[in-house]
Amino acid sequence: MPAENRILASIPDHEKRALLPKLEGIVLRKPEVICETEQFSEYAYFPTGGLLSLLSVSEEGDLREIAAVTREGFIGPPILSDAASCPFQIVVRITGRAFRIRTRELLRACKELPGLQAALLEQTQEFVRRVCARVACHHSHTPIQRLSGWLLTVRRAIDADDFELTHETLALSLSLDRSIVTRAALELYNRRILSYHNGHVTIHDVRALQATACSCEQASSHGSDSELSPTRRDRTTATPRLS
Ligand SMILES: [Zn+2]
Repeated sequence: MPAENRILASIPDHEKRALLPKLEGIVLRKPEVICETEQFSEYAYFPTGGLLSLLSVSEEGDLREIAAVTREGFIGPPILSDAASCPFQIVVRITGRAFRIRTRELLRACKELPGLQAALLEQTQEFVRRVCARVACHHSHTPIQRLSGWLLTVRRAIDADDFELTHETLALSLSLDRSIVTRAALELYNRRILSYHNGHVTIHDVRALQATACSCEQASSHGSDSELSPTRRDRTTATPRLS
């Protein structure tokens, strides 16, 4: 059973059994666009790994990330209505596995499975709270605090200290100029907290990264970095690079 997605793991066992035949295991690969703005979303997605980015698109075509979705959440239609058009562009940022279900089947299942409906409503509420927290974060915390918090979110999503993230993705996710992201990453590198080379991030000191991060991203997660295995690396053998 798909226990890796927090929502699916939280519903009663008999509801999991009812839902299972409708779920299809897939791999979402970056930089796939799984839904365009204002288009009908044929599927809803329950990630079990990787990271998806929800982007708003301005009339001028500028992109701004509204939220990131990991295995703690889902991508799907408004649960309280039959509307299935997607208000965001949804892009795969980090490749990972997911379960998908046809949108109409999910809406039907919500009417039959109260545990599922409650879990999705709770997640929808959490999503709104996270979007509001992100706006507040943007105005209240420094780039290095925000970059640190976001990197911890990614680490938690994929259970790894090494991952691929381009400068462009970091800048878009944080709504910052690339030059500002570069300065913040350089500061983390100088503190020997991480390496960043050719779009590859390696976290060397998780505790220091946690100490640097603002609490916004961490508070918005149901997970905790302390739940993961210790990953602080031997500073004498690590070879941090930044480029
Ligand atoms: Zn913050």
